[in-house]
Amino acid sequence: GLAGRVALVTGSTSGIGLAIARRLARDGCHVVLHGFGDPAPIASLEKELVDSGASQAWHVAADLLRPEEIERMVARVGERHGRLDILVNNAGIQHVAPIESFPVERWDAVLAVNLSAAFHTTRLALPLMRQHQWGRIVNIASVSGLVAAPMKSAYAAAKHGLIGLTKVTALETATSAITCNAICPGWVLTPLVERQLQARMAADGVDRDEATRRLLVKQPSQAFVTLEQVAALAAYFVSEEAAQTRGAAWNVDGAYTVA
Ligand code: NAD
Repeated sequence: GLAGRVALVTGSTSGIGLAIARRLARDGCHVVLHGFGDPAPIASLEKELVDSGASQAWHVAADLLRPEEIERMVARVGERHGRLDILVNNAGIQHVAPIESFPVERWDAVLAVNLSAAFHTTRLALPLMRQHQWGRIVNIASVSGLVAAPMKSAYAAAKHGLIGLTKVTALETATSAITCNAICPGWVLTPLVERQLQARMAADGVDRDEATRRLLVKQPSQAFVTLEQVAALAAYFVSEEAAQTRGAAWNVDGAYTVA
């Protein structure tokens, strides 16, 4: 089991990261929450995670746009627990615009949060994992790591890159008990997607149901993937049974990438 494993989930104050943190808490991990948010709701999340089975839960702050803050974040986990067994690189941001008018500052930010941050956490976590001869790295990519869509140049580049990083990490750890895999979700209804849904309602002048239908047009299931379904795949990747599952980029996407 995972009891006593120390898990850091980036971007776990919201959405998919929070669902994964909740799942790892139920499985008995020490959960380190990370991400933006107000102190009061974060404190109640910490309490909720302990009540549901986490041996400990606390929040570490770090702006992933800043490598020095990522260094401080991983160092704090190491100082507090002496180990870091499970790293879930989940934090991500989106910006949609055609390439010609894509704001350069947004390109840099999308690459920094969705890709470079995972490089930094991985390079900083691996020594701790090697020290204890066990580790699990799970990178939350996207269907945009496997296929392209217009307006998503930065996001698709970052997510394709994250899958590349996943494969290299898997190779460099292949003879150890450390694994690295990626999850490629299709549409999941999180705050990130809620903003895209609202934008579509405004842009197309349609109601929520119609905007949802249009959003899901490339997802053959015509249904959102649930948070719990993504968290369950993460739970598999961090399990003992997944010891020889290495370098996978696994879709949970209602057949999005199959069509
Ligand atoms: P979300 O907006 O609900 O959560 C994002 C989290 O990242 C938040 O906790 C936020 O505080 C944190 N974060 C963002 N920028 C940060 C920064 N600079 N520093 C520190 N923390 C930062 O988003 P979500 O939908 O849950 O997305 C989580 C991951 O799943 C992302 O990598 C996203 O690309 C990916 N994903 C989402 C979907 C979907 O449909 N929702 C589909 C495929 C992939």
